[in-house]
Amino acid sequence: MTRKIAIVGAGQSGLQTGIGLLKAGHEVTLLSNRTGEQIRAGKVMSSQCMFDRSLQTERDLGLDFWEHDCPPVEGIGVTVPNLEQPGEKLIDWAAPLDSKALSVDQRIKMPSWMDEFERLGGDLRICDVGIEELEELAAAYELVLVAAGKGEIVRMFERDEERSCFDKPQRALALTYVHGMTPKEPYSRVAFNLIPGVGEYFVFPALTLSGPCEIMVFEGIPGGPMDCWGDVTTPQEHLQRSLEIISTYAPWEAERCKQVELTDENGVLAGRFPPTVRKPVATLPSGRKVMGIADALVVNDPITGQGSNNSAKCSRVYLDAILARGDQPFTEEWMQQTFETYWQYASQVVAWTNSMLRPPAPHILELMGAAQGSDSLASLLANGFDNPPDYMPWWLDEEDCRRVIESHMQQGAA
Ligand SMILES: Cc1cc2nc3c(=O)[nH]c(=O)nc-3n(C[C@H](O)[C@H](O)[C@H](O)COP(=O)(O)OP(=O)(O)OC[C@H]3O[C@@H](n4cnc5c(N)ncnc54)[C@H](O)[C@@H]3O)c2cc1C
Repeated sequence: MTRKIAIVGAGQSGLQTGIGLLKAGHEVTLLSNRTGEQIRAGKVMSSQCMFDRSLQTERDLGLDFWEHDCPPVEGIGVTVPNLEQPGEKLIDWAAPLDSKALSVDQRIKMPSWMDEFERLGGDLRICDVGIEELEELAAAYELVLVAAGKGEIVRMFERDEERSCFDKPQRALALTYVHGMTPKEPYSRVAFNLIPGVGEYFVFPALTLSGPCEIMVFEGIPGGPMDCWGDVTTPQEHLQRSLEIISTYAPWEAERCKQVELTDENGVLAGRFPPTVRKPVATLPSGRKVMGIADALVVNDPITGQGSNNSAKCSRVYLDAILARGDQPFTEEWMQQTFETYWQYASQVVAWTNSMLRPPAPHILELMGAAQGSDSLASLLANGFDNPPDYMPWWLDEEDCRRVIESHMQQGAA
């Protein structure tokens, strides 16, 4: 039976779900507050590095359009600088990923998926959806999904106090897309620099409008020296500030940047938001229900690079649940249960991500240091980005974590 479904928001989750539903024979209307052209001509929105399991959800829908053009991310590296001895490192290791990760600029991906959505017969409307429009949609469609990311409208979903650990932004975020950076050898990677008391800087290859690039991501602790974007007024100043930060805190990264230039005037971003979990169902003034999906309900700080990954995986959970529903109504209970299925996964990503936002526990420092002496431990840490539940529950427990460290150190010694 064909179901009639409306989706608000043309991002990772809205488009992936919309296209999946069309391919399964359903009737889908997707509402976006920006046209594909506006998205393409706008600012970068994310660093959107996606790991293999998430990429697989796209491949399964035939949406892997950039597998050959996008430069692969082949590994993960972690460096902790010694702030007392500038230019020296306390920790430095890297490990290959079992399968590559990819970052395709959402300014390329979303307009292209919007075209694909229409090509498959989807009804794409340009509209900034408010409560009035939601009422109309809820009256006309069997299910309304709000996939509006960090859009204002998601505030209609009540914040879940128990599941939300923070009420303020935990990092001042910035992105700088550049050409001309010296590649990491012998394999490309997300190069994480964890700078104690200052924040994090990480950098990796991606595909942008003008071809392969590197994305520099800054995660400054609020009020600290990397929370420094307020007085930046031009893209060139933004680039200069980016280079100043890495010269000070990660000079080995500055070495790679001698020839860099911005990919384009819109290849910069600065902002902040509080990581938040919301309740999955909102009630409109009429009493009708709408359901949130992905970032609309679970928005994480980008420190662990999981948002797009979560969105892809959430989309898969919702798609499977909608298809399994047959011709049964999409009741509030079904909405709650569907979200809880996703939350079983997402809660572990949230716990891991939030742990990285706090000053590191001693066992996490030990873990990071031990990975330098154990290839198998480094591999475990690198490949967990593809499936963060692999870190659980031991990551959060001092004794369990030490047991994991010891078992890997023994393996190395054997
Ligand atoms: C600085 C930064 C770095 C990041 N880096 C990574 C990373 O490396 N890896 C990773 O996996 N994730 C990363 N993310 C997170 C990732 O980009 C998001 O989690 C992901 O895009 C969320 O997908 P979504 O579908 O929920 O929402 P979005 O992709 O945000 O899409 C929401 C869409 O809804 C539209 N919309 C909003 N309100 C309305 C409305 N009222 N009416 C109509 N349309 C509306 C918006 O215009 C937008 O197109 C990063 C995020 C940031 C901010």
